[in-house]
Amino acid sequence: MKFQVEDASDNRENALGINSAAHGFATMLIHIDQKTTIVQTHWSVGYCGYCGCYEALCIGDVVKATRVFLVAVSQTADEVCYCDFCGQRAKPAKNAQLILLKNWCAEWGMEDLFDRCTPGFDPGPSRCSTEEGIDRVLRHVAKVSAVKRINVDDALPPVIGAIVGTAICLPIGILLQDNGNVAVGISLLIGILGGGLFGIVAGSFVLGARLARRLLSKAYVKYRIDPDLLSHVAGNYPDRIRRAVAIALATPPPADKA
Ligand SMILES: [Zn+2]
Repeated sequence: MKFQVEDASDNRENALGINSAAHGFATMLIHIDQKTTIVQTHWSVGYCGYCGCYEALCIGDVVKATRVFLVAVSQTADEVCYCDFCGQRAKPAKNAQLILLKNWCAEWGMEDLFDRCTPGFDPGPSRCSTEEGIDRVLRHVAKVSAVKRINVDDALPPVIGAIVGTAICLPIGILLQDNGNVAVGISLLIGILGGGLFGIVAGSFVLGARLARRLLSKAYVKYRIDPDLLSHVAGNYPDRIRRAVAIALATPPPADKA
């Protein structure tokens, strides 16, 4: 049984060079849609060159589906293995076991995963046992959740922005019009375009903050980070990261293993 990973916005597609968004194009008679998704099936551990340490590895398939009028006409799957933290490709450690996706979760901590995949193996100190290690994690989260890195592929933010922009600009255009509807037309155009653009920017802020919260909450429990050290290091970061850290610190302790 395969589990489709919902936590897909942690930038791993970009790191893997995969575009997971659906790309559609329409002709007069036919609509073809190509979509790439990552379906994780297993966990393991291995050394990640980008992170410079042993990490949890996600193993699964990159599934590329071609659909015509939303009906799948072809599908290919290639095996993929990537670092759970940064999304870069990595290989499992020698003799490391693969365990089913359902048999481990980040809340159980890295130590538990090492026990399951590489019993007796010493991966060294936790990557977050020092200020430098925590700083590196925060730097990565700040980078991938930056507004300029966020793709707003949801139509809702620009549509809401355009509606609000029109509601603001249209009455102004009506007030300014003299003879003809030029002012109304211009105000309508400014309202739709300006509001739509504002909606995209605002959506990027919201999605970036949400991504930072999710990544930091996961890292906090996964690496068993010292809360005082985390608060201290986060003090050097922007409000967006400090708020995400505060939410992570307020997260209830990890639940017992099933
Ligand atoms: Zn990594």
